[in-house]
Amino acid sequence: GRNAVCFFDPEMQALVTANAALAADLRQAWRENQFLIDYQPQVGPDGRMTGVEALLRWDHPERGRVGPDHFIPTAEETSLIIPIGRWVLESACAQLAQWAKRPERRHLSIAVNVSVRQFRHPDFVDEVMHAIAHAGIEPQKLKLELTESLLADGIEVTVAKMGSLKEMGVTLSLDDFGMGYSSLSYLKRLPLDQLKIDREFVKEVLTDANDAAIARTIIGLAQSLGLGVIAEGVETEEQRAFLAAQGCPAYQGYLFCKPLPIAELEKFMAAMER
Ligand code: C2E
Ligand code: CA
Ligand code: CA
Ligand code: CA
Repeated sequence: GRNAVCFFDPEMQALVTANAALAADLRQAWRENQFLIDYQPQVGPDGRMTGVEALLRWDHPERGRVGPDHFIPTAEETSLIIPIGRWVLESACAQLAQWAKRPERRHLSIAVNVSVRQFRHPDFVDEVMHAIAHAGIEPQKLKLELTESLLADGIEVTVAKMGSLKEMGVTLSLDDFGMGYSSLSYLKRLPLDQLKIDREFVKEVLTDANDAAIARTIIGLAQSLGLGVIAEGVETEEQRAFLAAQGCPAYQGYLFCKPLPIAELEKFMAAMER
């Protein structure tokens, strides 16, 4: 208009348009049930499977399987992550109920990623409680993977909400640990069960002295706080052996298994059980 100043940045405009298109695609994908969950095994010190992490995928009609890094940020911005996240949670609990019927599988846990937006939602704790009760599972088998970014909401609210989840009996893991800004004094106050070492530090743990020092520090920190610790992105036996030597007893990564659709995971487990 005549009295308005307007800055037009074509690149910015392209980004806004692309995001709006993605947001519309995501809403349609949700309506049409195009989301899937792959499961990636987590293993203990003896190489036995202790559980899995649930990883969301979008089975796009033209583009095939789309990884969450491409759409989670938009799903967060549009709040679509709320119903999608609830569905992942309910699916994981339903899967746990299936495994609970099988003696050789009832020890398995399922880790579910929780986005900040989801955690912040006032109904989140109730939804977790409902999902557990509805499926009739042991709450400790459900592991919620939270990130340090939750602390941006303030330590008091975060601790209180985590406390309610802990009281319910669910397991709490701090994901991508070391990537955020959380201070050690905060860490001590969070009612956690486990720290998860990000694959960013595992990747070059054998060749980069800084990454090795960070991994060692996280493992030591977990030990002194009485927490469990798991490393993600473990691709080689050398990485596993190094982490084991530093005292890390649990691993997840391509060395053991890629994320698999449930049917393939069941086959993988059957082969392991034989
Ligand atoms: P994340 O929680 O850090 O998950 C680990 C990622 O590392 C997964 O990527 C997994 O496929 C990948 N990965 C596992 N092992 C290896 C390995 O040995 N080498 C390499 N190079 N990569 C490995 P993915 O599946 O693409 O997921 C990306 C991120 O999307 C996840 O990172 C998580 O933050 C988010 N995400 C996934 N599912 C959900 C969900 O249901 N809800 C929410 N809010 N976020 C999710
Ligand atoms: Ca995770
Ligand atoms: Ca990570
Ligand atoms: Ca590095």
